[in-house]
Amino acid sequence: MSEMEKKRHSLAHILAEAVKELYPQATLGMGPATENGFYYDFDNITIREEDLSRIEEKMREIIEKGVKFEKKIVTKEEARKLFSNEPYKLELIKEIESNEVSVYKSGKFTDLCEGPHIKNSKEIDPESFKLDRTAGAYFKGSENNPMLQRIYGLAFSSKKELQEFIEKREEAERRDHRKIGKDLGLFMFDEEVGQGLPLYLPKGAMLRHLLMEFAMDTYLQNGYEIVSTPHIAREDLWERSGHLKFYKDDMYGPLSVDEKNYRLKPMNCPFHVKMYNSATRSYRELPIRWAEMGTVYRYEKSGELHGLTRPRAFTQDDAHIICQKDQLKEEILGALRITDYIYNALGMKDLIFKLSVRDPDNPDNYFGKDDDWKEAENSLKEALSSFSSSGYELDEGGAAFYAPKIDIDAIDAMGRKWQLSTIQIDFNLPYRFEMSYIDKEGKEKTPFMIHRALLGSIERFLGVYIEHTKGKFPAWLSPEQAWIIPVSEKSNDYAAEIHEKLRKNRIRTVLKKEGETLSKTIRNGEMQKIPFLLVVGEKEKEEGSVSVRYHGNDEGMVSLENFIERLKKETMIKGL
Ligand SMILES: [Zn+2]
Ligand SMILES: [Zn+2]
Repeated sequence: MSEMEKKRHSLAHILAEAVKELYPQATLGMGPATENGFYYDFDNITIREEDLSRIEEKMREIIEKGVKFEKKIVTKEEARKLFSNEPYKLELIKEIESNEVSVYKSGKFTDLCEGPHIKNSKEIDPESFKLDRTAGAYFKGSENNPMLQRIYGLAFSSKKELQEFIEKREEAERRDHRKIGKDLGLFMFDEEVGQGLPLYLPKGAMLRHLLMEFAMDTYLQNGYEIVSTPHIAREDLWERSGHLKFYKDDMYGPLSVDEKNYRLKPMNCPFHVKMYNSATRSYRELPIRWAEMGTVYRYEKSGELHGLTRPRAFTQDDAHIICQKDQLKEEILGALRITDYIYNALGMKDLIFKLSVRDPDNPDNYFGKDDDWKEAENSLKEALSSFSSSGYELDEGGAAFYAPKIDIDAIDAMGRKWQLSTIQIDFNLPYRFEMSYIDKEGKEKTPFMIHRALLGSIERFLGVYIEHTKGKFPAWLSPEQAWIIPVSEKSNDYAAEIHEKLRKNRIRTVLKKEGETLSKTIRNGEMQKIPFLLVVGEKEKEEGSVSVRYHGNDEGMVSLENFIERLKKETMIKGL
């Protein structure tokens, strides 16, 4: 156990001691260290948030007394006596198999505990911890047990670290995509529609559309073709693909159509394979690159759903590349280059590449020919080496049983890593569906298949992207690029004229003319993160211009033509 963990766990004991001093009737549950601090569960008391500072003070008193943590081994019988007034501890003692029970004493407090602990409470900086919040929690996490009251604490090695953690957490809350999504009117969820099923409002749907259009456009420019497939397919297909065997828990139950069972698709791959198999393929056709914005449905436990980053329905920017052995490396490299281009354009330049290969000690645990694995792993390695100057992480044994892969993490504005893109080679589907092509010598061969999703899930990407940008999207992705705000009723006609002109130039504008004051409308536009606010009055009308505010900066008067040129340029080059 690390020193920090020992301190955190020791603070849990000190918390329990403080609570017992202030509320002698309290009974004790359990109190472990957590990722950022500690907690302790209590029964027989009601602690409100405002009581926490009093308990905190008590804890500081105990810490400053310099109490020693001492381990003692007692018999079960002795333990039962020690904790005779603690029903939950008695419950825990029952579960101990050995007759030797470890307890820890610190000051006046004794707890049932294996340890380890710090030696003396003086080791803790009394300013380095804070009681954070209370919550209800079932004893031992089971709904069949009573609900206890949990007090959570934060603890770090210094006051500074604690402060930094709290600030970072507050920043994360301000960036929470669910909050921003609501504030900007991007998307919503509805209980009656169902959990984990996002509904995009006009602005959010426009953002999503622009993102997908950009991605698909990029793929088309790089030699991909677009395909489209349905949302359900017969169970026979999922049987053959192996999904019903290996992926069943992530799939929804059967739907009956004409006495046959169908399933919602958890992946798009088998459809693409079917299209490939619909004709005899020649080496001359390869590589085939088929892309689809495919909506898939996967079961997530309700407790694990989280806004857009963890929904039950999501759309992948999915594509499958079917190629010959000697084309593998070039195809992987191509996918890496496109990933880099897309993330650069979106302002997420820091990417981390992770290569997952076979466990070298157990090559037999994997499906597919040894030679093919070697070829695939080498292609991935070579592509990564020639692409990424900063190197990549290697995970030996991280490959799925049917495929080595590259996962790519993007780093957001808060330094958090998000795994978004995957490039994966698959030995399973070509085998199961007997995919083939005729090579130069006229012989039938099995092609290689690459799955790749570069944004990954559009929903998850958007969730991350909203948090990364705080909802301040580049102009080319902004659902509303400009608001036109007349200074008074007299300028309404001119404002409408500009609105028309900009719309004809494919600039997404909103004409604001209802009642609110100029300053209020401007403030509202800034809160809505509208890139351009165009204020127009008599003076602007005379000169055929607009007064531009760009993300809060007053840029003064600009002729309408110049403004259109500028926005068009920004839209064209995708912010690069
Ligand atoms: Zn302990
Ligand atoms: Zn696939």
